[in-house]
Amino acid sequence: MPAGPAAPPLGLYVHIPFCETKCPYCDFNTYAAIESLMPSYTRALEREIAGWGAWLGGPALTSIFFGGGTPSYLPTRDLARLLRAIDAAFAVAPGAEVTLEANPRDCERERLRAIRRAGFNRISIGVQSLDDQELRLLGRRHDAAGAIAAVDAARVAGFDNLSLDLMFGLPNQFVASWEHTLAEAVALAPDHVSAYALTLEGGTPMEADVRRGRLAEPDGEIAAEMYRLAIDLLAGAGLAQYEISNWARPGRASRHNLAYWRNEAWLGVGPGAHAHLFDNGMASLGALGANGARFAVVKPPRDYIRAAAAWEPPAAPVTRASLAAVPFLDTVEAVSDATAMGETMMMGLRLNEGVSDAAFAARFGKPIAQAFPEALTECLDYGLLCWVDGSLRLTDRGRMVGNEAFRRFVVEAAMAG
Ligand code: SF4
Repeated sequence: MPAGPAAPPLGLYVHIPFCETKCPYCDFNTYAAIESLMPSYTRALEREIAGWGAWLGGPALTSIFFGGGTPSYLPTRDLARLLRAIDAAFAVAPGAEVTLEANPRDCERERLRAIRRAGFNRISIGVQSLDDQELRLLGRRHDAAGAIAAVDAARVAGFDNLSLDLMFGLPNQFVASWEHTLAEAVALAPDHVSAYALTLEGGTPMEADVRRGRLAEPDGEIAAEMYRLAIDLLAGAGLAQYEISNWARPGRASRHNLAYWRNEAWLGVGPGAHAHLFDNGMASLGALGANGARFAVVKPPRDYIRAAAAWEPPAAPVTRASLAAVPFLDTVEAVSDATAMGETMMMGLRLNEGVSDAAFAARFGKPIAQAFPEALTECLDYGLLCWVDGSLRLTDRGRMVGNEAFRRFVVEAAMAG
C-alpha cells in the first residue's frame, strides 16, 4: 500500500508469545505449551496488522521487530505470512531493518535460509552465556556449542546483520567466566551485542529461589565489574557502545530500538505489546495531539485472539476515545507534556549520543534547563551528566548509576505534571 508523501515512518513491534519452555528468570508475556494456538494466533495477528494499516493510512515503516517470546519458534510459513500481511498493510521502506529474535535451538541452516528469504534481514540470537553450567542455571534450551553453531548457520543463511544477547551478574557467576563468554562472543564477530545484567523479577522461580536462600543472590559489585569488563572488551573488538547495554559495529546500531530511546512513535501488535502514537505529521493522527496516546494490548493470548480475530477498524479518526473502543486494547493513556519530556530524558540519556538540547526545544518549546532546572543542576553537580556539543550525556560515572540520573528527571516531570 503506498504511503502519502507526508507520512512519517513508524517502527512496528510484533509480539510472539510462544516459548518451548519458560526460563526461570523470565517475566515476559510468553507461555510454554500453548503451541496449539499458533494457527489462530497467526490469523488474529494478520487481522490486527491489516486493521492498523487501514486505520493509519498505510504509513511508512523503517523498522520491524519480531520479539517475544521466541519468534523463531513460530513455523517459518507463519512468519512469512505475517511479513506479507505487514507488506500489504504498510509501506515498508526500502532497506527497512527487519529483525527476528531467535533461540539457538531453532537455528538450523535451512530454516534460517527460509527465514532470510521471507524478508528478515537482521537476526538477534539469544545466546545469554557461553558457559554450559550457566546456561543450565538459566534454564536455557541450548548449550554453548549450539549457540556457536547457530551463529555459523545464520551467517551461512545470509544474515550479515547479526546480534548476540548476553547476560551477566548471574548467581554464582565469576568474573572469569563472564570474561570467557565475552571473549568467545567476540570471536564470533557479531555486528551487535546486547549485554544486560540479570534482574530478579518478583514472581519468577529464580527470584523465589534467591529469596528462600536456595540460590546465591547476585552480587552488585561483581556485576559492576563485569559491566566495566564488557565496556573494555567490546570496545577493543571494534564494537562501539551506543547505549547503556548495547554495542555495535559502525552502521549496525539497532534502528528499531533507537526509535524507542529517541522517544519516537511506534506501534506494537500482539498480546501485551505497547504502542505510542502521536501527531508527528501523519495526517490520520492529527486528532491525537503532539504527545498522543500510549496503549497496551491485552496480555492473555486467548483473550487477544478472541478480540482481534474479527476486528474491523473504525471509520472514525484515531483519537483516544476511538482507541479506547478497540476490543483488544487493555489500557489507553493520554501522554502529558510533562510525561513526554520526562520520558525523552529518561530514554535519551541511555544513549551515548545523549539528548540534543536543540531537538528537545524544537519538540517541547523550551530547552532542557528550563524544563528540568533542578534535576539538571543536581546531575551536573554530582558529575552524572555533562554537555557535549549541545547534547546532554551521561558521564562514565553516570553510566554506572544511570537509574539515579534518570529518576531525577522523572520525579521532576511528575511534580510538574
Ligand atoms: S526464551 Fe526468552 S522469552 Fe522465552 S522464557 Fe526464556 S527468556 Fe523468556
